[in-house]
Amino acid sequence: MMHRIEPRSGVAIELAKGDRLIVIDPQGGQVSDLVAMSRADVREIISNGRTFDYEETTRLTTGARLWSNRSNIMLDIEDDSVGVHDFLLTPCAKATFRHFYPDKPVHRGCFGNLVEALDQYGVRADDIPTAFNVFMNVPVDREGRLSVEPPVSKPGDHIRFRAHMDLVIGLTACSAYASNGGSFKPIDYRIERG
Ligand SMILES: [Zn+2]
Repeated sequence: MMHRIEPRSGVAIELAKGDRLIVIDPQGGQVSDLVAMSRADVREIISNGRTFDYEETTRLTTGARLWSNRSNIMLDIEDDSVGVHDFLLTPCAKATFRHFYPDKPVHRGCFGNLVEALDQYGVRADDIPTAFNVFMNVPVDREGRLSVEPPVSKPGDHIRFRAHMDLVIGLTACSAYASNGGSFKPIDYRIERG
């Protein structure tokens, strides 16, 4: 069964070990922030630093694993039709809207959406880590400067994760202008159990 995350919103999803989560960009050019926590202890949380360290790359795609702050594998990337994702930047938030878009209305962003969705699991605002930003396109140039470019994902593109432990996942349809090429679109997802 396909689920839809409406534009500029977010959800919490429970995965058991072995379950698969397929995140789909139905219209193309849309980012989805993903955070993961262990269901046994939500203080065990997805870590970009541990992941870059163990995977020895920042280009995380099919075959890569996403690690926790306690050095356990949380998710495998089993399949990826895009190959361009970001794991450097934190979820967009009220403060980042004020910083980057001072003339536009402030939105609570992925950060606020994740805080609300994950509140029921005891996850608090200060616990939200750097998200694995599915389909987000953040090239880094030779001087180390980074920029937020439109996603290269096309309608129907997807990424499939497999859970390595029982997890709580926070997943959004991103709310920031630059991340999504200036328009806000939905994100679809599907879960395959076991
Ligand atoms: Zn966002």
